[in-house]
Parts: sequence; C-alpha cells; structure tokens
Amino acid sequence: MVSTVYMADLRASFKDNLFTKISRLLKCAGLAEGVKPHSMTAIKIHFGEEGNASFIRPILVRPVVDAIHALEGKAFVTDTNTLYVGSRSDAVTHLETAIKHGFNFPVLNAPVLIADGLRGNSTRTVKVDLRHFQEVKIAAEIFNADAMVVMSHFKGHELPGFGGALKNLGMGCAGREGKLSQHANISPKVARKRCVGCGQCLAWCPAQAISLDEKSGKAVIDNESCIGCGECIVICPQKAINIRWNETIPVFQEKMVEHAYGACHGKRERCFFINFVLQVSPACDCYAHNDTPIVADIGLLASRDPVALDQACADLVIAAPGLPGSALGAEVAAGCDKFKVLYPEVDWRTQLAYAEEIGLGSCSYNLEKV
Ligand code: SF4
Ligand code: SF4
Repeated sequence: MVSTVYMADLRASFKDNLFTKISRLLKCAGLAEGVKPHSMTAIKIHFGEEGNASFIRPILVRPVVDAIHALEGKAFVTDTNTLYVGSRSDAVTHLETAIKHGFNFPVLNAPVLIADGLRGNSTRTVKVDLRHFQEVKIAAEIFNADAMVVMSHFKGHELPGFGGALKNLGMGCAGREGKLSQHANISPKVARKRCVGCGQCLAWCPAQAISLDEKSGKAVIDNESCIGCGECIVICPQKAINIRWNETIPVFQEKMVEHAYGACHGKRERCFFINFVLQVSPACDCYAHNDTPIVADIGLLASRDPVALDQACADLVIAAPGLPGSALGAEVAAGCDKFKVLYPEVDWRTQLAYAEEIGLGSCSYNLEKV
C-alpha cells in the first residue's frame, strides 16, 4: 500500500499564509470524511514543558478548530499528563502551563481538556492482542473522542530517534500506567568517571531511584525503584547517564507503537495527522529548553497515515543540509542521517517498520505538494 502525504512549503503571500495552508492540508487529507455534525473531535497536541519554546504555537491550532467547527464538529484541545515530575505532571499544573503558553479559549475558540484526568489515571483499557501487550491503557478522553486530529512538532528524540505522529499517539495518548509500561524495560546506568556528583538527576527522578554514594559522591541508580522513564539521561549535564543498550530501545519503540495502535481504536478512519517540521530541535518538547534547530524549517505535512507521514518527515530532514552550530556538530551534510548522528545507538526505522507490520500504516508514500 502506498499512502498519500500532503505537503505545504513555507512560502507565503497575501493570498496564502500558514493558516490557509493548514486548512488546505486538512481538506486534502479528507477531514470532512471523518468529522460529522456533533462529532466530539480531539485535537491532540503537546503544550510544551515550561521553559521550552519550540512547541506548536497555539494560533496555529485555531485553523484546525475552525475547520472542525465548519463541519459542525465539537472541537477540544488536549494532551495527557507526563510521567516525570515537571510542569505538566498533573492536570492542574498542566492546564496552568498550557494557559501560560497561550492555549486558552480566546486564542483557540475551543476548550482545553487534560485527557487522562487530574492525576493521569483516568484511562480506558483497549484490547490490542499484539506482540508485547494484550491490552493498553489509553487516556479516557482520547478513547471517548469520535474523531481526532493529531498535531505533532517533528523533532529529534532520544528514545525513538525522532518524535512525530507515532510518538504523539503512542506515548502522548497513553495514561500514566500506559506510559510506565512502555518505559519498563529501560534501565539506565551511570558512567562513574563522568559523574561529578552535582545531584541534578536526583532532583529530576520521579521515582527517587537515584542517590549519591556516600564515599565517592557519585550518582547510583537503584534498578528496583527505577521506572525507566529515561529522563535522567538528558538531564545530566555531564552526559554521565546512559541507557543499558541491549534490546531495550527496539522494545520501547514497539511498545510505543502498540499504544499508538490502541489510541486509534474505534476511530482509525477518523484520525488525521499533521506534522510541523519547523524548529526541528534535537530533543523532545518535554524538556525545559529547546536547543538550536538541526535543519532549517521545512514545512507542514498531513496525512491519514501516521506511518507514511513520519517516514516522509524523516526523509525530508535527512535530505536537508544540517545547520552549523547545532547539536549535529560537523555532521551537517545533506543526506546524512541526522537522527543517527544525534542518537547513534537508536534505529528510528524500528518504530515505522513495526507500525507497518501491525497495520497502522505504510512506510511507502507519495508526496503531493498542495
Ligand atoms: S546529573 Fe550527572 S553528573 Fe550530576 S549527579 Fe547525576 S549523574 Fe552525576
Ligand atoms: S533513574 Fe530511572 S526513574 Fe529515575 S529518572 Fe532515571 S530512568 Fe527515570
């Protein structure tokens, strides 16, 4: 199967700007076939961790809301709580952060809901019968929605290699238990020579699994308490914490994709995906910072197929010249696999290949410029 991916570049004029391009992309992707009068339509987005500024701007959500309203659907804008301790780990702080970042009714013309409730435990069980899970825990309001538009900021990510539609679906639509079960196989280790005992990882760890050894002053991880969230890996300023590289990353990717499959349950034909290949930062918007982009802004892409969409975005980022002065270092040649440069131990293709294998979409696509 070959899926169609629609692409709008970033050239603009008095007649055609980012807002008209978003509306056109949704029309081409067939939004009208999925959103019917009174359809409760989730707009799944990432509100950005406090301190991060590369999340999708709220004014760019408005044309999506308008398109849903034009079809007489009922739009709401949503995300789930994070596993780690931060500015979005419960619904109260999450909503406060969303409002600070401009995601509020006057801008969006739609309400903001936290899909997995006050503490991330408002979920529904979805039967999937796949390799790792018989069933997955999906945020209740994602499950309850009749249709969904998944808006994803495309960027690098330390676990699946990049974060796009599949990551937004799989991790972003899971409740806390679902997120935990995806991370469960990942256990990091501390390179004692690099550790300077600054304690930053202790403060960040959501499971209090890290302590400083009394004698050496170096960080020690208690594998029994570790929930495998992977956050300490990026937090450590010395790059002293690393994943125990074995089969864990491919397994993580497959588990994430199984949750993506569950998130679309009951509405696969009414799910639409739009990726923003803008400000392509090297790491997730879950961090309280966003490093300089690795490539120049590329454009907006949309599809009914999240696999084809992510594949097309990855191909475009790889084909583009890398930006000097970014985390890519000297590896900036057009055609160079930027995600491999950033995360050499991760094969990002695993998430796409497995998603194709379980029928979530196709890695083959036609790119249609609109
Ligand atoms: S953040 Fe890094 S350097 Fe600091 S204590 Fe933890 S492992 Fe050591
Ligand atoms: S030690 Fe484990 S639980 Fe703590 S931040 Fe690291 S990966 Fe997460």
